[in-house]
Amino acid sequence: MITENLSRNQSPNWQKSLANVVRDTDTLLELLELKPEALSYRPKNFPLRVPHSYINKMQKGNWDDPLLRQVLPTALETEQNIHFMLDPVGDKDSAQQKGILQKYHGRALILTTSHCPIHCRFCFRQHFPYDEHQAIRHEWSDCVAALAEDNSISEVILSGGDPLSLSDARLQTLCVQLEAIPHIKRLRIHTRFPLVLPERINSAFIAWISSLSLQVVMVIHANHANELCHKTPAALLQLQQAGVLLLNQSVLMKGVNDNTTALINLSNALIRHHVVPYYLHVLDRVQGAAHFEVDEPMAIALIKQLRTLLPGYMVPKLVREIAGEASKTPIG
Ligand SMILES: *Cc1c(COP(=O)(O)O)cnc(C)c1O
Ligand code: SF4
Repeated sequence: MITENLSRNQSPNWQKSLANVVRDTDTLLELLELKPEALSYRPKNFPLRVPHSYINKMQKGNWDDPLLRQVLPTALETEQNIHFMLDPVGDKDSAQQKGILQKYHGRALILTTSHCPIHCRFCFRQHFPYDEHQAIRHEWSDCVAALAEDNSISEVILSGGDPLSLSDARLQTLCVQLEAIPHIKRLRIHTRFPLVLPERINSAFIAWISSLSLQVVMVIHANHANELCHKTPAALLQLQQAGVLLLNQSVLMKGVNDNTTALINLSNALIRHHVVPYYLHVLDRVQGAAHFEVDEPMAIALIKQLRTLLPGYMVPKLVREIAGEASKTPIG
């Protein structure tokens, strides 16, 4: 008993880890034993941000590390490309004042926070005007009232930003209200925390998740097998033991996972940890991310190859998000 209490008290405080994320290119490169480049690019609006737990999964001395590529700002981001826009998926037009995004039948997405533990250079919401929405300020009442009024909605998706940036207390305040709405059956959480800052999934969080009357689905976002190591498997196991259905979505990206081996390794790692590969998204054409794009014929060729090499349940659906469509659009 004593040792158990001790180890619980010594478990790292996730909020402290969140406060200690690396925000500076020189520090990141130093930790990776890479020589800082004098001219490294330092964007003001969407700056470098990466937790130590994620850095620990990167290979030292490797500029081409697939995890480093996801977070290191480069001057390539400043190249203008008319096909790459500020709001590629039409979120700004769909978002109601309240902070609810509803594009598809039966599920509504709440923008719960603008904060993320990590800044992913390819993120399609990196230019999103979060401040305009009430839910971001944790003014839930209008949002909850709207969901209560629409009985076609059976699933609420917590998104953002990363919803697990919110404290357990804030999540509870919102979810207690969602649980009181009879037509809402499922809570879906879109988060990278189990991968990038797994200490977030602590015993208090697990106790809360287990206590919910809603069914909980968590969609994590791993792009590479190397993300599923260190403390991440234990966090995933705890979630699974708490009855959470675990799915993964990835973005297909040049230099990160644009080859059959990387995609096979990712699916193997996910299934090993009881996570079903759900979606493989082609890159949303957001300004600053053009250098990550894999062209569509190549994407289709890769997914076709995967189908011949893996069991069907290990092959994610290759999809594109097209503004105005009634679902994600399958390709290939
Ligand atoms: C992607 C998305 C969803 C989820 O779609 P599924 O196909 O159910 O995974 C829901 N709402 C919005 C606004 C989305 O962009
Ligand atoms: S919303 Fe997701 S993809 Fe975008 S920066 Fe946050 S964690 Fe990364």
